[in-house]
Amino acid sequence: MNKMQIMKIFRDTAYIRTGGSAEELKCAEYIKSFCESLGESAVIEPFAVPMGDSISAEFKVNGTAISCKGYALCGSGTVKAPLYYLPGNDKASLLGCKDKIVMIDGYLGHWIYKDICDNGAVGFVTYDGDANYKDCDIDQRELRKLVVADGEKLLGVNINAKDAIKLVKNNLGEAEITVSQNEYEGESRNVILDLKGEIDKTIVFTAHYDSTSLSQGAYDNMSGSVGLMALAEHFSKNPHRHSLRFVWCGSEERGLLGSKAYCEAHEAELNDVVLNINLDMIGCIMGKFIACCTSEEKLVGYIEYMSSELGFGVKASQGVYSSDSTPFADKGIPAVSFARIAPHNTATIHNSYDTMAVMKAEHMAEDIEFITEFASRMANSAVCPVAKEMPEKMKEELDYYLLRKRKQ
Ligand SMILES: [Zn+2]
Repeated sequence: MNKMQIMKIFRDTAYIRTGGSAEELKCAEYIKSFCESLGESAVIEPFAVPMGDSISAEFKVNGTAISCKGYALCGSGTVKAPLYYLPGNDKASLLGCKDKIVMIDGYLGHWIYKDICDNGAVGFVTYDGDANYKDCDIDQRELRKLVVADGEKLLGVNINAKDAIKLVKNNLGEAEITVSQNEYEGESRNVILDLKGEIDKTIVFTAHYDSTSLSQGAYDNMSGSVGLMALAEHFSKNPHRHSLRFVWCGSEERGLLGSKAYCEAHEAELNDVVLNINLDMIGCIMGKFIACCTSEEKLVGYIEYMSSELGFGVKASQGVYSSDSTPFADKGIPAVSFARIAPHNTATIHNSYDTMAVMKAEHMAEDIEFITEFASRMANSAVCPVAKEMPEKMKEELDYYLLRKRKQ
């Protein structure tokens, strides 16, 4: 795949495609027809996802309306209470949540949600965007099942950081949240392509093609999806001993829903899977190329050797990458995620700034070339050299990431 073809795919897919949406399906079909253009047949495999749409929401403080978006899947109704800003999750700060609508910093994770619920919050407010940017964008967030777990659903809204600052500056006040929405079971989908090898042992390649609500997701993660398309093209024309499966995952941004659904639906086949190679965010203009190995440490050394051998800079390490590699690793399959990590002041994600403008065709081509070399060695190995066992250290990190344990 040449640089012009790479950039054409970015142009063709320069639209928002959230998990479960019609645009996500449009992109799935685009990827499927790309596979067909290689003379291969891919399938679109649907999986159920909870959906909340036709959302209308109102957030008032001391009677003044503040721009907001209601959380999808948080229910419908009205809640009135004093607004409280939670500056941290220490015990003293949490005490203030009682009978309040609680405004928190950052993402609404499982533990912070549990904390505010356990301390008597009756509603919540999050904020995003950046106080120093001109835009007043507000991301469409959702109250994930994993966040709520067995707890209660609270009504919540997301606002812009500039309004959040104003509210705290003006001493908050009496708040009212009203949300109404239509909640139902919808459908997201993975696109799957098989390239049979000489043996049944399989390498699974993954990259997510969905985006968040404001984002064209060029960097996160059409870049990795293009990488997977380039790998599929390469291996459709070149011999490979291992069987290869390519999975373009849907709904990654909604909590790795596509890769989780894949691992559940294909549990029996995972026996033959020897390695997962995941691409999430490559080819940006600025930033360093990394390999995050959820595997034995030897793979880190192997990639470092390859880096020196080929004269291509890679920072390899052992760890859990927040992406579709994780459900595979959790099934005991060694996984490596490749990414080029941009400094935050040069390219950001999950907002309207994640467009082709942050991409560099030459970096895409170079990153893909390195990943193709690594993948070719693995695909043509007599026996996949990476041990199919998860070190205790990685198992523990997976427990934290997958919310089975809480970091103190
Ligand atoms: Zn991503």
